[in-house]
Amino acid sequence: MANPIFSNLPTTIFEEMSGLARELSAVNLGQGFPDDPGPEAIRAKAADAVLNGYNQYPPMAGLPELRQAVAGHYARTQALDLDWASEITITSGATEALAAAFLALIEPGDEVIVFQPLYDSYLPIIRLAGGIARLVSLQPPDWRFTREILAAAFTPKTRFVVLNNPTNPTGVVMPEADLALLAEFCIAHDVIAICDEVWEQVVFGDARHRPLMALPGMRERTVKVGSAGKMFGLTGWKVGFLMAAPALTHSLARAHQFLTFTTPPNLQAAVAWGLENAEAWFRDMPTALERSRDRLTEGLRREGFAVLPSQGTYFLNVDLAASGVEMADRAFCLHAVKQAGVAAIPVSALYEDEPVPSIMRLCFSKRDATLDAGIARLAKARELARTGKKVTA
Ligand code: PMP
Ligand code: GLN
Repeated sequence: MANPIFSNLPTTIFEEMSGLARELSAVNLGQGFPDDPGPEAIRAKAADAVLNGYNQYPPMAGLPELRQAVAGHYARTQALDLDWASEITITSGATEALAAAFLALIEPGDEVIVFQPLYDSYLPIIRLAGGIARLVSLQPPDWRFTREILAAAFTPKTRFVVLNNPTNPTGVVMPEADLALLAEFCIAHDVIAICDEVWEQVVFGDARHRPLMALPGMRERTVKVGSAGKMFGLTGWKVGFLMAAPALTHSLARAHQFLTFTTPPNLQAAVAWGLENAEAWFRDMPTALERSRDRLTEGLRREGFAVLPSQGTYFLNVDLAASGVEMADRAFCLHAVKQAGVAAIPVSALYEDEPVPSIMRLCFSKRDATLDAGIARLAKARELARTGKKVTA
């Protein structure tokens, strides 16, 4: 008496690993969240809005001040011309925005292209909507698609493609040429792109995030999803942005109104303030995270781990096989949390089929002491694995 789409699923890998980390008091480099309280000025605005602001239902599509701030933010940072009134819906996190997009737009039998490894909330909701997922596996170390890969994936039944860029878990920020290639296929096949861009502000060095929506011919056929939780390092906040041309937004908002209807108005007010006052934050936050990425990378390399490059997100990946670990990723992650007290994410959990079996994702949005402890414990986990002390998966 339960829908097998959900009842057959395991608990998400993020919850499983964070649960083990809590239970075993392990260093948690698994689930992606910072281990600091987040920017104080925005939290103070939220607290003030709880005490002195309006705490009843806000408008279904979101507070006008937040929708205006979102339009202003994307005009400044990505040169997008979003109309706040007809093209922006505020949701309870990107998770709800994505669910609303899948439920509002997919009709039973529509084919939906998704790239693996993939964020875990996509497939269940695509299937609930009746969509047929066409899984395309990308391979390390570049995780790039090619013309041949796309030509094999697009069929006459393809109606949607889901793109997560910058990409969790791979840390890839897609080059313009790859986006142009995907846009070419979307236009040729009359396909809508659903773009999960929650990591758009977390980009390092020379990498530049370019929204697919900004490519020629894509403005009317792209749904763009953002997340205040990721922008401000407040992952529990669950304030998402769902953006698309008016005809699409009409349907998206109809789905949103029956998923959550609204999102807490006090958090919306604080995010609106944040977007208008965050120039320094958006400049300094990626620089600090890049430092943390480098600290974790260098520490792991000193211990002999093979670290893959990361251009954005909170994550980097370790090639376990190339690091001298013979166990598969899931077995090693269970071993590491249970025997050495450090939690990580096995990337194979983010594939439905043909998983790449020996990549481990680590979150570096952490204090130096947390990263250093994580490095020492991962080195210990590998040593214990080598000397034959194993746990079974
Ligand atoms: N998509 C991706 C790729 C993510 O990494 C996350 C969360 N880490 C989400 C969506 C969900 O975002 P939110 O917390 O705003 O629901
Ligand atoms: N996006 C977070 C991550 O990748 C997890 C969010 C969640 O647990 N749902 O770690």
